[in-house]
Amino acid sequence: MADDPGRTKILLDESRIPRRWYNVLADLPAPPPPPLHPGTREPVGPDDLAPLFPMDFIEQEVSAERYLEIPEEVREVYRLWQPTPLIRARRLERALGTPARIYFKYEGVSPVGSHKPNTAVPQAFYNARQGVRRLTTETGAGQWGSALAFACSVYGLECEVWMVRASYDQKPYRRLMMRTYGARVHASPSPVTTAGAKILADDPDSPGSLGIAISEAVEVAGGADDTRYALGSVLNHVLTHQTVIGEEALEQLASVGETPDLIVGCTGGGSNFAGLSFPFLREKLAGRMSPVIRAVEPAACPSFTRGRYAYDFGDAAGFTPLLKMHTLGHDFVPDPIHAGGLRYHGMAPLLSHMYELGLFEAVAKPQRECFEAGVLFARTEGIVPAPEPTHALAGAIEEARRCAETGEPKVILTALCGHGHFDMAAYDRYLSGEMEDFDLPQERIERSLGRLP
Ligand SMILES: *Cc1c(COP(=O)(O)O)cnc(C)c1O
Repeated sequence: MADDPGRTKILLDESRIPRRWYNVLADLPAPPPPPLHPGTREPVGPDDLAPLFPMDFIEQEVSAERYLEIPEEVREVYRLWQPTPLIRARRLERALGTPARIYFKYEGVSPVGSHKPNTAVPQAFYNARQGVRRLTTETGAGQWGSALAFACSVYGLECEVWMVRASYDQKPYRRLMMRTYGARVHASPSPVTTAGAKILADDPDSPGSLGIAISEAVEVAGGADDTRYALGSVLNHVLTHQTVIGEEALEQLASVGETPDLIVGCTGGGSNFAGLSFPFLREKLAGRMSPVIRAVEPAACPSFTRGRYAYDFGDAAGFTPLLKMHTLGHDFVPDPIHAGGLRYHGMAPLLSHMYELGLFEAVAKPQRECFEAGVLFARTEGIVPAPEPTHALAGAIEEARRCAETGEPKVILTALCGHGHFDMAAYDRYLSGEMEDFDLPQERIERSLGRLP
């Protein structure tokens, strides 16, 4: 508005790219329960994880240091897109007639269009430094696979990706983007692994799941000395790498004299939500601000709101350590909603632990409400959001509408963690009225929870 002198785009100088990642473990009253060895059920030690991950991450996973130094070689690559802009969604506010002030941290400006390179780059860097030749991984919507393929190309590593079949078919351009960066891409389940072949034998038309794709990537990494596995979410070190989002947002909001009343983000495995919220949570725990922090998950894959807090496998085949997390069961295959990145049966153990401690809240939303929010956002702010952050936007819009009723001028902060340029088929479904909301019957959840280890 002409009479509003405030800023719309809040940018930071390149020199302000964070020098340290924030490790929230240092500020929790107790650490989360440890991962357990799937055979012995004893806590896993560094030796158990060494075949899969470089030592730097195994150390970062359990570190009690509050801050971890970001290597200069990583910051140099971060400079390609960081610091990312924090944008005030004035036109969305006006469309909603809300007195709330809505800010979104936009991660879609990264080379691959999401927050994922914030962790893909350090992961490829540490692996390359340790002499690893190849990384394997899974990808749901294709964003993580693109990010790792990009990061591997930066450091000269080979990259092999198992892409969930449903996305492989729906999103050919993500697949081609990975190949452009030089990666090999398999549709998962694939016949090239034992885990994939077994699932194909039972169900040749399996749409796949992140759990299945993880089994395949882990199997291949475990079977070769020069190969390691990279995970794009869920693990502590991944969440820690993403805290650059929140550190920047904290500084950006402070520069315009704002503190958030609500922080809202979408959760698949939890990394963008953690990345945005942890630095603010640090400030909250220190008594310097008191935002409500809220996770939004898809109603079709509601691990926080309908899952059980229990030890479960991270993958479908049961190769990974047992993780204590909110889970729908490791062989739960969610309906094929368009937010592929939110179709994971579990949740980051660190976030699950923090949820149990009451440090944030969670809600679930059906996909049509989310796409409605995404379309309104595109028509007001101009950016077409990825299907995943439409969940965060739906959460932000819901609160802003409440503010319109109560007259409260709340400050709402959200992460627009990716753009949707490769997701136009999903928008096609929505715009043509063909998108469905899936009902998730309690029996289906009970059935897969009945198979918890
Ligand atoms: C991967 C991805 C997600 C889900 O993963 P989190 O670890 O929960 O962040 C959400 N949004 C986008 C754009 C993604 O690429």
